[in-house]
Order: sequence, then C-alpha cells, then structure tokens
Amino acid sequence: MTRVHNYNAGPAALPLDALRAAQNELLDFAGSGMSVTEVSHRSKEYEGVHNEAIALVRELLALPANYHVLLLQGGASLQFAMAPMNLLGGDKSADYVITGTWSQKALKEAKLVGKCRVAASAEEGNFTSIPREFDFDPAAQYVHITSNNTIKGTQYFAFPNTGGVPLVADMSSDIMWRPFDVAPFGLIYAGAQKNLGPAGLTLVILRDDVLQKCNPNLPTMLKYGTHVKENSLYNTPPCFAIYLMRNVLRWVKAQGGLPGMEKQNREKGRLIYGFIDGSGGFYRNNLNPPDRSVMNVVFRLPSEELDGKFVAEAKAAGFIGLKGHRSVGGCRISMYNATSVDSINDLIAFMKTFQAKNG
Ligand SMILES: *Cc1c(COP(=O)(O)O)cnc(C)c1O
Repeated sequence: MTRVHNYNAGPAALPLDALRAAQNELLDFAGSGMSVTEVSHRSKEYEGVHNEAIALVRELLALPANYHVLLLQGGASLQFAMAPMNLLGGDKSADYVITGTWSQKALKEAKLVGKCRVAASAEEGNFTSIPREFDFDPAAQYVHITSNNTIKGTQYFAFPNTGGVPLVADMSSDIMWRPFDVAPFGLIYAGAQKNLGPAGLTLVILRDDVLQKCNPNLPTMLKYGTHVKENSLYNTPPCFAIYLMRNVLRWVKAQGGLPGMEKQNREKGRLIYGFIDGSGGFYRNNLNPPDRSVMNVVFRLPSEELDGKFVAEAKAAGFIGLKGHRSVGGCRISMYNATSVDSINDLIAFMKTFQAKNG
C-alpha cells in the first residue's frame, strides 16, 4: 500500500488511524454483523456512535452546557443561508466581515434573506490581511466572520471584540486547530471535509440564548430548533460521515486534544513559512505575516510556468493537491490537523531540491 502526501484543500487527508479503524470494522460493526452504514439510525449501535461524536465535540472544544451541538447536512454553504434565515427577518440586521471568497458567498446568501451591513472588508488590500478596524452596529443580531480563508490563505489569530454582539463564524477550514474561548460565539458552523472528517456532514454549534431568538416560522428542516429538539435525529443523519468524524475526534483526543493539535499546527506553520521566506524570493507568499494561515499556505514561484512545473513534479514525487484554487492560481499547501510535521519536512526537502534545479 502506498499512501501519498495529501495536501488537498477539501475533501482532505484524514488521520490513518481513523481510516484503519473504519477498515477493521467495516464488515461487522460492534458485533452487529453489518457495517455501520447498514444499521438503522435508530439502533443502539448507531446511537452510541452519534452520541460519542457529539460528546467528543463538546469535550475537545470544552463547550459549556449552554451550547448545543448539531450534526447537519448541506455543507457550510447551506449555513450561509440557514443562519440568517433563523436569525434575521423584519428590521433585524447583521454585520459581515469580508476576508475572502467564502465570506463574500456568506454575505451574498444573507442578503437574499435579510438586512446586512459590511463592518470591515479586506477587499481593498486584495485580501492579503485580516482587518484590525471594524465599524460594528451595536444593534446587530450578529457579526459574521470566516475564521480561516481557505482560498486567500489568511486566518484570524485573535477574534474581533464585538462588544457583546454574538459572533457567527464559518470555521470550516480551521475548527479544532487549537483551543479557543467559545463564549463570544453565538453560532459556529463547519463543513466536516477539511478538519473533521468526510464530506456530507456539517457541524453546527449554537448558544442557547441565540437559539431562543430564532425565527419559528421556517420549514421544519431549516429550523435549528428542530435539530436541537431531536438531537440531530429528526431525519436520517449522514451516519457513515458521523462515524468517521467520531474516529477522527478519537484520534484528535489521543494527540493531546486541541493543545496537542495547536503545537503541531504552529510547528508546521513555522517550518513552511520559514522556508518560503528564506528561499530568496523563489517561493513567495505576499500576505501580512501575522495573518498567514497555518491551515492553507498559498505561494507562487517566479512564473506561472514554474508554478505548473512544480505542481506536476511534486505530484510525480507523491506530493499531491498543491495546485492553488482555480480562482487565484499559484500553489497551495492545505495542511489540516491530519497533516503531520514529518509530512511538511518531507515537502520542504522536495521544494529545496526543486529550487536547486530550477532557481
Ligand atoms: C470549503 C469551505 C466552504 C464550503 O463548504 P461546503 O461544505 O462545500 O459548502 C465554506 N467556507 C469555508 C471557509 C470553506 O473552507
């Protein structure tokens, strides 16, 4: 068996332990004589997986009792609409901070549903930094942020102070990269396919006072309240995706939980940006250094031709997924929790050799 170095942006690499566990019990899950994807979602066997996944989310993020954990479908993209559907309406307004492609999409959807303002935008600086100044409306229902900008390559290392207005965060590409204080957050959502597991599952974390203010006049499936009340079992959940996330979260816990993840993620960031900055301009990342993402590292070589040659030769050498997002070009290393420090060291060795031959 050959496993490549996988730097795909999403769906992305998963910890080998999580996949092996799934492989070992694929044909006979928990003595049921069936795979986990064949048992009833109302069965005891599945219920154990479902509740363990939720309990691990609570434990790893140290969620206080006033937060609900939901396991939904529709991706982060559905949350772009579902959040404002539940939280806006009438004269209610929300503030959005625009830091990249995904925050633009979130705002576009919210505008279809309710009143929105832009409280800060990084667009003028071509999204090379995270805003430090905000024009918050103290009467806003919430302030929406994108904690990590998967395509542009920037990340929040400190969250804005909203003066008590609940933060709503799209954490799709960096949830669980480190511990953080959830208290300012009214709602957090994340498509699972970057840092948590496979596609088809969306993690939603909702504070109870925010839930109480949600619009009751929505279709059943679009109301957060439905899923809170039914423990995310109102309808058939994505059982296999939840099971795999459970395996991933067991692995995260075994790594020392989020403090363990943070240590590895910071080390990967230190190594790769140190290398890029020390490459004499051969590899270039032009983002504001304090805002550089430790999840998605974007860079360019001296020409588009070399970008392409680099991606192709890397692929041939077993380093896959290094092409930048089609909207921005260049190269990108997505190094979520499952990417080891060793993998980044191997990649750096390859990048050194490539530079020596082409620099
Ligand atoms: C990938 C991504 C999305 C889109 O997620 P889907 O689950 O495909 O809808 C949204 N926001 C961010 C920050 C992402 O990285």
